Amino acid sequence: MDLPILKTRKLKTFHTIEKLQEQLQLVRKKGKTIGFVPTMGALHDGHLRLVKEAKAAHHFVVVSIFVNPTQFNNPEDLKKYPRQEEEDSVLLSIVGCDCLFLPAVDEIYPENLPIKQISLGHLGETMEGQFRPHHFDGVVNVVARLFDIVKPSQAFFGRKDFQQIAVIKAMISQLNYTVEIIEVPIVRNEEGLALSSRNQRLTEQELHSAVILSITLKKGIEWAKEYSPLVVLDKMKAFFEKGELKLEYLQIVDPLTLEDLHQWVPGATACIAAYCGEVRLIDNMELIK
Ligand code: AMP
Repeated sequence: MDLPILKTRKLKTFHTIEKLQEQLQLVRKKGKTIGFVPTMGALHDGHLRLVKEAKAAHHFVVVSIFVNPTQFNNPEDLKKYPRQEEEDSVLLSIVGCDCLFLPAVDEIYPENLPIKQISLGHLGETMEGQFRPHHFDGVVNVVARLFDIVKPSQAFFGRKDFQQIAVIKAMISQLNYTVEIIEVPIVRNEEGLALSSRNQRLTEQELHSAVILSITLKKGIEWAKEYSPLVVLDKMKAFFEKGELKLEYLQIVDPLTLEDLHQWVPGATACIAAYCGEVRLIDNMELIK
């Protein structure tokens, strides 16, 4: 039997800002809109969902793959971060991405590049900010740099990184960017585990144990119908401790300010981070619509 031939367009790949911008200039001249999806690669269906949504809304979609050293506070985590550009490139062609930007570190951070400073306050200090010092300084700087290079009309971000979206929105407002942020729901595997490039580093057994993250969050949705945020938090923590992961934080926060909640508000969201073996995983779910 003949196997069907998978028809994919050759993906335009640029390593330099100059070449990328030449291409984007041509696209703009034709009156086409540009949607942008920043990633760190090792792509999975979560990333591809962002690309598909961008493609549905724009003539031309740029995906960047850049493992940003400045947002890693743990050098081991940076070293072990999976890199698989060839496979990523094939996946991007299949979902109709138009252009891949794959810059080297020097291209993104040339000498004397001014650092963007913004005041994130609580948004940058709580949760990820508390446990990954300077993480969001790195995120803000790389996203601003990529926005300056690509100048998209919209950029697509996953709700998996719930706090990151709040931080980027604050950055947009403080630095007066005009790009619109489109939030995309979390993609999960059949067991409920949020897809993550870091899941590749989990053993079969760990992959199974890690499902406790999403089960705990789902329990939170049920308990939120009956109990106050503080009681729900206690119950969720007690439940999570029955599993094998090591909890770093579990907080129920206001979706805009990320302040810890004592009373329910619409959009109240539980955010969790924990270690599964050596791998740090995060997840979140809205508890109250
Ligand atoms: P990363 O490559 O981890 O920096 O992620 C790039 C983008 O993909 C970010 O906007 C993430 O929030 C998003 N993303 C990662 N995992 C998922 C997922 N499971 N579902 C939806 N979006 C995701």
